Amino acid sequence: MSDFNPTLNEDQITIQKWVHDFAEDVMRPNAEEWDEKEEFPWPVVQEAAEIGLYGWEFLANAMFNDPTGLTMPVAIEEMFWGDAGLGMAIMGSGLAAAGIAASGSQDQVMEWVPQCYGDTKDVQLGAFAASEPDAGSDVGGYRTSAKYDEATDEWILNGTKAWITNGGIADIHVVVAVVAPELKTKGHASFVVPPGTKGLSMGQKYKKHGIRASHTAEVVLDDVRVPGRCLLGGKEKLDERLARVRRGEKGNSQAAMQTFEATRPTVGAQAIGVARAAYEYSLDYAKEREAFGRKIIMNQSIAFMLADMATEIEATRLLIWRAAWLGKHKGFVNAEGSMAKLKAGRVATHVTERAIQILGGFGYTREYPVERWHRDAKIHDIFEGTEQIQQLVISRAISGLRIE
Ligand SMILES: Cc1cc2nc3c(=O)[nH]c(=O)nc-3n(C[C@H](O)[C@H](O)[C@H](O)COP(=O)(O)OP(=O)(O)OC[C@H]3O[C@@H](n4cnc5c(N)ncnc54)[C@H](O)[C@@H]3O)c2cc1C
Repeated sequence: MSDFNPTLNEDQITIQKWVHDFAEDVMRPNAEEWDEKEEFPWPVVQEAAEIGLYGWEFLANAMFNDPTGLTMPVAIEEMFWGDAGLGMAIMGSGLAAAGIAASGSQDQVMEWVPQCYGDTKDVQLGAFAASEPDAGSDVGGYRTSAKYDEATDEWILNGTKAWITNGGIADIHVVVAVVAPELKTKGHASFVVPPGTKGLSMGQKYKKHGIRASHTAEVVLDDVRVPGRCLLGGKEKLDERLARVRRGEKGNSQAAMQTFEATRPTVGAQAIGVARAAYEYSLDYAKEREAFGRKIIMNQSIAFMLADMATEIEATRLLIWRAAWLGKHKGFVNAEGSMAKLKAGRVATHVTERAIQILGGFGYTREYPVERWHRDAKIHDIFEGTEQIQQLVISRAISGLRIE
């Protein structure tokens, strides 16, 4: 295993600039409109597809063909610097792709992941549906069931999923369901629900505080029948795993957790993209705005706020890059992925709030983007494991105890 090296190689610098240009030229000018509309930004995702930023090939190159682990966080930081709502619209299908890659066979990955994206002539979406109205953090509380019908070799899914990114508008839904309720979190399995499957519908679409260009909705599964081959990993492996768990042997960690663990450093990168946008904007503003006959940055209270913001962002980026590198080398020791995500969410929420403070009254209005960035930042304390769930994971890792 090579040493951790936080220096980007030439390819990574090229990708960073490429994504930054798209963020600056396409995302920034569109951000306010789609935040106000609160609709899925099809034209922006189409443009992203046309340059190859939205598509499974980009994901494969940036994620799976990168031995350092840094390419994806670097690209995502730039994208979310452009706009988090639009960024989530572009990245949302990646959750489904990660869910398929986490539990699926190679054949299943090859069949379903491209369908999460489509192509430039027919852009498609993926959704990863794990959370439920009564079970977000508490993954042991999932109630969506999957029952096997041996006569037809089909699985029948029933239940309601909540807060699902691209839920109900996606072509491919990856659904985490309970196959063996008595085994709690170890009795879950993931299923692909192919496009046009009867019984899957969108429930309520949520009106959100931030990332409003990203579509978030309930997914209702009413006697949804999917062929046996839609069980990710296949029936034989599932039966073996359940038998191992029943014998009290170590089972694979349950499906939803595998997906979240793989994506945590990239969620951290989203957060610092938003933080950096707000920091850069408020730095420029502080150098321009005058009060009491001088630029406001000439007051230590403002300059020191900016110094702290810059320091927090730099430190957090290192944490994220190191976690991404450790993830690539299967080297997590103390839940470093969770540490990076925890820190990044907090930093983004704090830095964007400080940016509003620096802009004063203007910062509180929709005329300036910092209030939007503050609304967008907060989601990073909540999804893919709340602040408290990250603390739980970290405290268990560092103590070796089952902290509750
Ligand atoms: C915009 C958005 C997009 C999302 N996208 C997806 C998606 O695509 N797919 C998907 O499956 N899910 C998605 N989610 C769901 C998200 O992952 C959950 O909202 C999140 O896991 C929290 O679950 P919850 O909302 O049920 O909160 P709860 O679990 O009810 O938590 C409420 C509060 O209690 C705290 N808490 C809960 N348990 C503990 C504990 N044991 N110890 C300490 N504190 C605790 C939490 O930290 C939180 O502060 C999305 C959510 C949002 C808002």
